[in-house]
Amino acid sequence: MKDCIFCKIIAKEIPSKVVYEDDYIMAFHDIEPQAPTHVVIIPKEHIASLNDLSDEHNNLIGHIFLSIKNIANTLGLKEGYRVVSNCGDLGGQTVDHIHFHLLGGRQLQWPPG
Ligand code: 5GP
Ligand code: ZN
Repeated sequence: MKDCIFCKIIAKEIPSKVVYEDDYIMAFHDIEPQAPTHVVIIPKEHIASLNDLSDEHNNLIGHIFLSIKNIANTLGLKEGYRVVSNCGDLGGQTVDHIHFHLLGGRQLQWPPG
């Protein structure tokens, strides 16, 4: 989608440090890491947020979560990690292309604030 930062990352118009990529998803290091490991996982299909998911996305979302598990294992996050998807303004979403943050490598606090 035009003017979407993450679509531009998928198209390689904006460079990123890719951790994993296949036909459906892409994972890359966050430009402003909030933990020693901070990877963003996105579908290649432009979906604005969690609110825009429907039944047709069931397989995609399952694929994303299984891939996150594999990425976490590959990155050595043996002691645990967190997966977050911010939705909407109050949820803290700043990029309107659905994404999942994978955070690890330090003790994470709860609630996040
Ligand atoms: P949100 O705030 O929407 O949950 O998460 C968006 C994330 O995308 C932020 O953590 C932000 O640092 C990251 N981000 C924004 N622009 C870029 C970029 O151009 N490259 C990379 N690698 N990450 C970005
Ligand atoms: Zn997009």
